Amino acid sequence: PPSHIPQHQQPGLVSPKKLPRIPNTPHRASSDAFWSREFIDDWNDEHSPKKILFPDATKSKTTTAKKTTSSSKPPSTTTTTSKPPSKTALAASAREAKKSFAAAKHALAESFLAELDETITAGQLSALAASTGGIKLNWTNKLNTTAGRANWKRETVRTKAAADPTSSASVTTTTKHHASIELAEKVIDDEHRLLNVIAHEFCHLANFMISGVTTNPHGKEFKVWAARCSRAFGESRGIEVTTKHSYDIDFKYAWTCVDCGMEFKRHSRSIDPKRHRCGACKSELRQTKPVPRVAKDGGKQGPSEYQVFMKEQMAVVRGENPGSPQKEIMRLVAGRW
Ligand SMILES: [Zn+2]
Ligand SMILES: [Zn+2]
Repeated sequence: PPSHIPQHQQPGLVSPKKLPRIPNTPHRASSDAFWSREFIDDWNDEHSPKKILFPDATKSKTTTAKKTTSSSKPPSTTTTTSKPPSKTALAASAREAKKSFAAAKHALAESFLAELDETITAGQLSALAASTGGIKLNWTNKLNTTAGRANWKRETVRTKAAADPTSSASVTTTTKHHASIELAEKVIDDEHRLLNVIAHEFCHLANFMISGVTTNPHGKEFKVWAARCSRAFGESRGIEVTTKHSYDIDFKYAWTCVDCGMEFKRHSRSIDPKRHRCGACKSELRQTKPVPRVAKDGGKQGPSEYQVFMKEQMAVVRGENPGSPQKEIMRLVAGRW
C-alpha cells in the first residue's frame, strides 16, 4: 500500500445508546423564538439527558510510568494532585518550553531525519528519494490521535536512450520513490516525542524502500530497523522504537472526577461538567486543565444563593404560568430576585 496507517487508535467518548429524542420546541417557524439560537440552546440543554463519560484509552499514568527514564515532561502535568503555587510556576515554565520547542522543531526534525538516514542506512533513503526532492516532512493539523504517519509510493519510469530509439536494449527503467512523513502539530509537543516519532516513521520508510516490505507494517523487518535505531540513538537521544505508537498525547483540556479521580482529556472544550458525568462512578466532573479561575470563597462548594433561589422559584412560577415557554419563566424568576 502507498501509505502506512499507524495502528494507534484512540477511542473518544462512548456515546450512550438510544438517547431519548429531544422534543420539538412549541414554536412554529413563523415565530421569532423558533429561530432564536439562545432559546434553542436552552431548550436543548433542558431536554438533553446527562451524558456519561467513559475512561480514555490512553491513561497518562500508565504511559508515563513506562517511560520514566526518557520522558522530559514535568511530572506534575500528568498527576491530578493540585498544589496551586507550584502548578502555576510549572505551567509558566511548561509554556516557555513549548514556545521554544515550537520555534526549533522544524529544523530539529530535518536534521534528525538526515542523521538517522546517514547512520542507519548510509544515506540510502535520501539517495532513493533524491529524484523527487528527498524525504519530505509535512507538519499537519489533521492528525489528532496519532503522532506521525509514513507515506511512500513507487513510480516506475521507462526512458528510451535518444541515440538509438529503435533498440530495446536502450530502454532504461528507473524507479522513483515518493516518500514523506506527516507529523502531527497537535500531538508532538516536545523534543523527545518528536525524535521518537521520526525514528518510528523512518523505520517504516526503510521497510518500504530498502526491505521492500509493503504488507506487514510492524513485522520482523520493521523490528530490525527499529532495533538499529534504538541501538544507535538510545543512549544519546532517548530513542526507543517499538511496534506500537504509544505516545503520551498532551491534551489541552482535562476534567477529573471529583470522586474516583478518573481523568478525561480532550483537545477541545468538548466536555461540559453540567451535562457530562464520570463513566466509572457517575460522579461530577471538574475541569482540571487549564484550572478554571474560581473565587476564593469556594464557588465550588455548592450552588450559590442565586441558584438555590432560581431552582425554588422556577417551580412556583411555572405553576403560576402554565404553558409559558421556559425562557419566559426564567425571565420572570430572574425578575423576582
Ligand atoms: Zn508504525
Ligand atoms: Zn468517577
